Amino acid sequence: MFLLAVTFNSSAAESHLTKPKLVLQITVDQLRGDLLSRYYDRLGKGGLRYLMDTGTHYTNAHHRHANNETIVGHTTLATGADPAIHGMVANVWLDRPSGELTYNVEDDRYPVLSKGAGINKKTEIDSTLKAARSDGRSPTRILVSTFSDELMIAHGGKSKVFAVSVKDRGAISMAGHTGKAFWFSKQSGEFITSQFYYDQYPKWVDSWNAQKPVNKYSGTSWSLLHEKSSYMFAENDDRAFETVLPGFGRVFPHYYGKPSDKYFTTLLTVSPAGDELTIDFAKALISNENIGKDDISDYLAISLSSTDYVGHLFGPSSLESEDNILRLDKTIADLLTFVDEKVGLDNTLIVLSADHGAPESPAYLKQLGFETDFIHPEEFDKAGAIVNLKKRFGIGEELITTYSHPYIYLNRKVIAAKGLNQAEIERAVAKEVSSFEGVNLAVASSDLKEGRTPDTPLTQAILSNFNANRSGDIYVVFEANRFINDFDGLKVASSHGSPWSYDSHVPIIFAGKGVAAQKVTRLVNTVSVAPTLSQIVDAKPPSGSFGEVLNEIIGSK
Ligand SMILES: [Zn+2]
Repeated sequence: MFLLAVTFNSSAAESHLTKPKLVLQITVDQLRGDLLSRYYDRLGKGGLRYLMDTGTHYTNAHHRHANNETIVGHTTLATGADPAIHGMVANVWLDRPSGELTYNVEDDRYPVLSKGAGINKKTEIDSTLKAARSDGRSPTRILVSTFSDELMIAHGGKSKVFAVSVKDRGAISMAGHTGKAFWFSKQSGEFITSQFYYDQYPKWVDSWNAQKPVNKYSGTSWSLLHEKSSYMFAENDDRAFETVLPGFGRVFPHYYGKPSDKYFTTLLTVSPAGDELTIDFAKALISNENIGKDDISDYLAISLSSTDYVGHLFGPSSLESEDNILRLDKTIADLLTFVDEKVGLDNTLIVLSADHGAPESPAYLKQLGFETDFIHPEEFDKAGAIVNLKKRFGIGEELITTYSHPYIYLNRKVIAAKGLNQAEIERAVAKEVSSFEGVNLAVASSDLKEGRTPDTPLTQAILSNFNANRSGDIYVVFEANRFINDFDGLKVASSHGSPWSYDSHVPIIFAGKGVAAQKVTRLVNTVSVAPTLSQIVDAKPPSGSFGEVLNEIIGSK
C-alpha cells in the first residue's frame, strides 16, 4: 500500500509517451505567449486550437536570455543552451579579427547552390541580412549540438533531419550540424540551400521550384479571411504608424503585384503567403524524403516567418496581425491534416514555440497612455558625458565606434595605443550610458567576465547572453517601451530585442500521442525544450544544454 501511495501521482494529468516516428518542431517567429489565448475563440478546429486542446500548453514560458532576436531564440530552442554557450548572441555581431559586422549564419566557404539567389542588399528589407558579407551559409558558428544532431547520433546517422523556413537563420539553426536546411530566396522565389548541405539539389526540390509556386499569387492580394466586423481590430486598419511598402499599402486588401515587380516576393514574405509557401514546400519534403515512414524517429523543423514580418510592419495588435494569426492557424491545420495522412498524428510528437515575443508598437502604446520614445545609440559617442570622459582619458578619436544591438563596441585600437585599461574604459562608459535618458542599465563585459555584476534577474539574462568572443564591450538595456528603429531606412511599427517580458514571453506546446491535455502556468524556460525532446527519443541532451526537463511532458514515460 505504501508503494502505491508513492508512485501514484495525485490528480495531475500525466503523459504516457511512446517514441514517435516524427518529431515536428514548429517555431512561429515573433509569436508572443498571450496571442494564442487572445484569439482562441476564433481559431478553427484542426490547427492551433487542436494543439492547445489536446497538448500540454505552457502559458508562462520565457526565453531567459536578454537579447530576444531571431537567431538567438531559434538556437536556444534547438540546443537547450543559452547564447553564452551556443554562441548566437545576436542576429549581427562585430567580428573582432576583421573589425566588420557579420551575420549569424554566414560562411563564405559554402555559397548558396543557386547562383544569384542570395541576398540583394538594395531590395532587402530584413536589415539584419544587410550585414552579411557573402551568400555562403552554414551552421558552423553554432558552438554546441542541437536536439536534431543528438537524434541523428542516437540513431547512428539514420534519422532524417530537415528544417525549412522563409529565413535562412530560421532553418539553419534548427537543422543543426547534421541535418539539411532549406530557405526562401526573395531573389529567385525558390527554396534554396547551400553547399554545406548539398552539391546539387534533390530532384524533388528542382521540380518544386520549376513549378514556380510564387506565381499563383500574381495579381492577387492579401484580403481578410472573415467579415471585417468580426475582428477585434476591425476599426484599426488605417493607422499612421503602420509601415507602407511600395504598392502594398496600409489597409486591406494588400496587393502583391506581379512577379516582374521588384518587391513581389518580398511582399509574399510579409504576409500569410510566406507561411503558405513554406508549408507547401514542407509537404513536398515529407512526401519525397519519406519522412516518418519507419521506426527510426525523424525530425522536421518548420519556422514560420510571416508573423514576425507582419508584426514589424503593422504591430502585434493590428488588423493585419489578427488576420495573420487566423491564417497561420489555417496553414498549420493544413499541415497537420497532411502529416496525419502521411505519418499519422498518433506517431508524431509536435512541439510549438517561438523565437521571441513582441512589444506593442510605440504609437499604439502612446494611444493607450504609456510614455514611449525612440533611442539613438549611434549618437552616444557625441553625448556630452562621453565627450567629457574622452577628454579625461585623452582620447580625441571616436570611442564608441559601433552600436550593433544590443552591444556597444569601443575603439579597442585607440584604447590599446594610448596604453589605457580596456576594463576601466568599459566601466567608465557603461556608468555614463546607464544614466542616459531611456537607458535602464549598461553593463561592461569586463564586469560580466569577472563576476562583478549584482545577482538580479536582469543581469542573469545579460550573463546568459555573454560570450567573450562575440559579445560587444557593453550591453545596453533600454527602459521598457523604449525602442530603436533598426530596420535602417525603413521605419517599422515595432521592433523586439529587449529582455522585457513582452519580448521573452512565448508559447510552448507539446502535443501528440501520450501527451496530456493540460494548461501549465508555472514559469518555464525555453532551454527546457531540447533536453525534453532528447528524453522522449532516448537521446542524450544537446552538448551545451543545462535546461531542466519538463516533467509534465516526460511524466511516467
Ligand atoms: Zn523580428
